[in-house]
Amino acid sequence: MATTPTAEVIRERCRAAGLVGCGGGGFPTHAKLERLAEVVIANAAECEPLLIKDTRLCEEAAELVLRGLELAAAAVGARRRIVAAKPKRREAWRALRAALGEGVELVELADAYPVGDEVVLIETVTGRRVPRFGLPGDVGVLVLNVETLAALARAVDNELPFTHKQVCVVGAVGRPLTVRAPLGYPAQALLKAAGWDGNAPVLEGGPLMGGLLDEPAVGRVSKTTAGYTVLPPDSPIPRHLDRDARLNRRLALSACTQCRYCTDLCPRWLAGQRVRPHRWMRALALNLGLAELAGEMWACSGCGVCELYACPEGLSPRRVALELREGYPRPDRSVEEPEERSVLLAGRRPPTSALLTRLGLADFVRPTVVIDPPPTERLVLALQQGTGYPAEPNVAVNDQVTAGQLLAEATARLAVPLHAPLDGRVSVLDSRQLALEVSR
Ligand code: SF4
Ligand code: SF4
Repeated sequence: MATTPTAEVIRERCRAAGLVGCGGGGFPTHAKLERLAEVVIANAAECEPLLIKDTRLCEEAAELVLRGLELAAAAVGARRRIVAAKPKRREAWRALRAALGEGVELVELADAYPVGDEVVLIETVTGRRVPRFGLPGDVGVLVLNVETLAALARAVDNELPFTHKQVCVVGAVGRPLTVRAPLGYPAQALLKAAGWDGNAPVLEGGPLMGGLLDEPAVGRVSKTTAGYTVLPPDSPIPRHLDRDARLNRRLALSACTQCRYCTDLCPRWLAGQRVRPHRWMRALALNLGLAELAGEMWACSGCGVCELYACPEGLSPRRVALELREGYPRPDRSVEEPEERSVLLAGRRPPTSALLTRLGLADFVRPTVVIDPPPTERLVLALQQGTGYPAEPNVAVNDQVTAGQLLAEATARLAVPLHAPLDGRVSVLDSRQLALEVSR
């Protein structure tokens, strides 16, 4: 077993590797490791239905995940190390259990959505409630996705930069797949390898939180890409995502019955935060009191439960929140006491199977094949691939670079460097991205 370096060395190697959170937000990991915490949780929930990239990773590299957990705990001085996973994902569960070190706890998560959301996960695992607009660190907890932890282990023990991403292609395709793709790899090549017909709508991400990939031809794998979900033609999801603000208002006015199911099933509400979508739907319909509810809208995680599962009228409280809140300033971080919810409401989390049935995706729960990415001629790498600031290029057009070489440096605390995933020649460089012609 490798020795564990000092907290300073762990953070510095993490920063130098260009690591960001692989669970969706893409927050620079070295910045997360700066704050002391009592508890570190390895998040293996992967609760977006159909997505399976973390599950595959745990099956293949559970020891690396556990090593990353040990390093993260050392960096923040944590006493408790916890792996949170679903027994329903049997192989991954077995592999994680077999790799557990002394004193590491394995916590069972329900096969429900969204058990992997940080606020929900922390409450489920530790009983602590993150305040509205607060951070996990406010309650002494650090949560890291399992892929982030595996990359942290490679960064610290082997000084390897973060250049490849675990990605899956799932849904209405002939050959669902999982792949470890170089950053900047074309989404279209992965979709074709999975048997996408070129017409079916594609989400970048899972069915609940994914966004429509308007132009699959230009989509690229980034540090925050988890996968692509191909939707069947009759899917209700694009209808919700395409709805504009005026239509949402007309629907709120004509169809919202104020039944409150959206609030009663909202995971943030169930976690004790004041987030009440039925209230902003009423305010929208009456065009009254929206400003007072802006804070609630800013606390919405965008999980999609209200519009894709709860609302019997097919309305879109999530879209309303995400659009309208932009018109109001985001509240400062608040330490406001969470609102007490009724104990009767606790545990109302949609089972994955029920969600899939509701979304017409129940037939697409299938194993994935693990493939190597088909050869590509070009990688296109954004200089910013997560939360924070872009990296500053330190190469020029026509420079020949080798795999792992630094392409762009971090010049701000909340920025991470970017490295070449493969050997190649820099062919394009502008303020947002660079392209690499891959050497044969
Ligand atoms: S669930 Fe739908 S109909 Fe009921 S209050 Fe919410 S938006 Fe209105
Ligand atoms: S998307 Fe809907 S259910 Fe999810 S946090 Fe926001 S309001 Fe709640």
